[in-house]
Amino acid sequence: MAMYDVVVVGAGIEGSATAYYLLKKGLHVLLLEQFSALHSRGSSHGQSRIIRRAYDKPQYVRMMNDAYTLWSDFEKESGATLYRKTGILVFGPRKNIAVSSTAHSLASGQVPHEQFSGREANRRYSQQLKLPEDYQCVFEEGGGILNAQKAVLAFQQQFQKLGGTLLDHTQVVEIQAGGAVVTVVTAPRKAFWARHLVVAAGAWTTALCSSIGLNLPFRVLRSELNFWKVEDPAVFTPDKFPVFIGYTSDDDNDTHYYGLPIHEYPGLLKVCAHGGIAIEGPDSRDRPGGPGTVVPVSQFISQTLRGVSTTASITEYCMYTMSPDFDPVIDRHPLYSNIIVASGFSGHGFKLAPVVGKVISELVTGESPSHDLHLFRLARFLPPQSHL
Ligand SMILES: Cc1cc2nc3c(=O)[nH]c(=O)nc-3n(C[C@H](O)[C@H](O)[C@H](O)COP(=O)(O)OP(=O)(O)OC[C@H]3O[C@@H](n4cnc5c(N)ncnc54)[C@H](O)[C@@H]3O)c2cc1C
Repeated sequence: MAMYDVVVVGAGIEGSATAYYLLKKGLHVLLLEQFSALHSRGSSHGQSRIIRRAYDKPQYVRMMNDAYTLWSDFEKESGATLYRKTGILVFGPRKNIAVSSTAHSLASGQVPHEQFSGREANRRYSQQLKLPEDYQCVFEEGGGILNAQKAVLAFQQQFQKLGGTLLDHTQVVEIQAGGAVVTVVTAPRKAFWARHLVVAAGAWTTALCSSIGLNLPFRVLRSELNFWKVEDPAVFTPDKFPVFIGYTSDDDNDTHYYGLPIHEYPGLLKVCAHGGIAIEGPDSRDRPGGPGTVVPVSQFISQTLRGVSTTASITEYCMYTMSPDFDPVIDRHPLYSNIIVASGFSGHGFKLAPVVGKVISELVTGESPSHDLHLFRLARFLPPQSHL
């Protein structure tokens, strides 16, 4: 009988980091992945994700302060270089609340940052930016790039090196909950038993959790990664140009955009829209359909950037698992306290992964979590007084 302390479902960044932190607590851990251990059908593939403390909610600034330390410790332990510092520039119209709240959150978290106008940003990045002069800008020097796929691989490798078991091509098809031991049935047909289960199945979490009575209100979006040719690659290198988040309207709920200096493909700048097209479910991500984001991103480029083509050279696909309030769920099942759900990262969960792994390992071992998890409770999506 294959009995574990913890089974983790899903070897994307959240599941891989969680499995690693659980193992560091001395637990016997099994990590299950339906596809190959590194694949591009979920949300954690590609070479780059933004890391930043610049968030409009103070809770994330606190978590990211911890995350930076954890990423750095993990780089030392694994020997993998995962973080590249570039600084981050957040900009938008003067009335945009997300930009001003980012400055307040950074101040409340005592994170050094600068605030200046669009005019000053254009002076500092005279070869790259042409922002409206009255825009507000926030700059935080710790912003940068995480090498996404390398990070997933490093967590999986360290996990296995320390004695964890990773089984890929092993899809969880059934969860039997209700007692001190959870049974996990997989295809190919096999059963595993564990005292605790962590479901970190990204966009597949909703379907998997419906079998254990949870009706999660997540929406799955097909999001695009767009890469654009630049006239002079030398001015868009990570030492010359920061990662950025750009708003173009007063309403912070409108689509906003983000970009990273040249990192993945030579001569190509990554500029994308935050969001995407709602799709039926994760398995229909690569079916064509719906208007893409190339046109609005191209308009954003012509409004704000210099020397960047407005014709996309490469478009790749990824998925956002959106929760209604854009905060993830990191919580125990309301009936089965030995099941923890971690999903709904709403397009911003990569950078948080070490903290997610750390707090889940604390929940499993019964320690009080190092961060306030109030924002991430399942109860906010369940009917009041519901036992489910
Ligand atoms: C275009 C794009 C840009 C982004 N940019 C940023 C950024 O700049 N900064 C940032 O912090 N975040 C960013 N994100 C968000 C971040 O990448 C995601 O929040 C994160 O990757 C989610 O990881 P995950 O482990 O929850 O999901 P996934 O990576 O999808 O992993 C879930 C895994 O579970 C497996 N699985 C599912 N069901 C089963 C099953 N039944 N049995 C076994 N295995 C199963 C899946 O195959 C998958 O491997 C971006 C996301 C996208 C799409």
